[in-house]
Amino acid sequence: MEQRIDGKAIAEEVMVEVKSLSTRLISDTGVIPGLAVVIIGEDPASQVYVASKGKRARECGFHSVQHTLPDDTSQQALLAIIDDLNNDPAIHGILVQLPLPSHIDEGKVIQAINPDKDVDGFHYINVGKLTSGELGTAFVPCTPAGSMILLLRTLGRDLSGLNAVVVGRSNIVGKPVASLLLAANCTVTIAHSRTKKLDEICRTADILVAAVGRPKLIKGDWVKPGATIIDVGVNRIPAPERGEGKSRLVGDVDYDEAVERAAHITPVPGGVGPMTIALLMANTLSAAYRSAGLEAPKF
Ligand code: NDP
Repeated sequence: MEQRIDGKAIAEEVMVEVKSLSTRLISDTGVIPGLAVVIIGEDPASQVYVASKGKRARECGFHSVQHTLPDDTSQQALLAIIDDLNNDPAIHGILVQLPLPSHIDEGKVIQAINPDKDVDGFHYINVGKLTSGELGTAFVPCTPAGSMILLLRTLGRDLSGLNAVVVGRSNIVGKPVASLLLAANCTVTIAHSRTKKLDEICRTADILVAAVGRPKLIKGDWVKPGATIIDVGVNRIPAPERGEGKSRLVGDVDYDEAVERAAHITPVPGGVGPMTIALLMANTLSAAYRSAGLEAPKF
């Protein structure tokens, strides 16, 4: 049995579904899903992410807008742009690329986005809906939503009663993943940097989600035989074997060890990463469906 969860292939499946639903929405209602991405500064990694978000949006037939602002943009100017986008009927999803420069209050900017256009799912309204189990109308953050799709499509079953351990409690990944697993009737443990006996806790997991940011923290013998592992971590480590000064990406799980015991495991790269952008498209599509008075599609 193939243990490696092919995130790229599953992300493509989601993209095909988004494209077809987008075509249907446009032909049935005339509503063209619109995504606006706002980026401040010249950070090359962020520029690459933003460019690929625009490209994927256009592939889905969306109206795609990008606002690229200089490093010294004031908070007031950024809030004015968000206000314009909130009031623009052609825009259904607004994403502000994080991190923002230190002179801007990230929380204030996120909370200024209309919750109905908050395709990142970071607004308190959407956080509240997710934790209250109002999944039908919430925007769920893209990486956690993508992780759940990987789990559901890989296991192809109801997750009720499974023990899930989430390592990491960030607002972006750990907490929303835990809420989704709870909503799926798993018994959820959330571990973090103060957790004691992390190895023992991980060994109880039928589903293990690692969102830590520590290369290969989770060892093979921490894995329950037959477990399903979603490794969200993306860590760059030196790779002298590839040449002087070279590096490579690894996850939070020691893949080579864990694959000996896990039933299913995501690789890094090629696991969770490709899902994040696919779910951004899915969330934008959902926003457009809701703006047209329709129920958002399920993925
Ligand atoms: P944060 O740094 O915000 O959170 C990390 C979490 O891990 C914290 O809750 C922290 O605990 C916990 N932690 C740190 N060290 C340990 C340890 N030794 N043992 C147990 N828990 C520990 O990171 P994010 O959630 O934003 O991201 C996590 C990883 O996921 C990163 O590698 C990031 O690059 C990656 N990522 C990948 C994405 C993708 O698309 N594939 C998208 C988003 C993130 P405490 O709260 O106590 O400090």
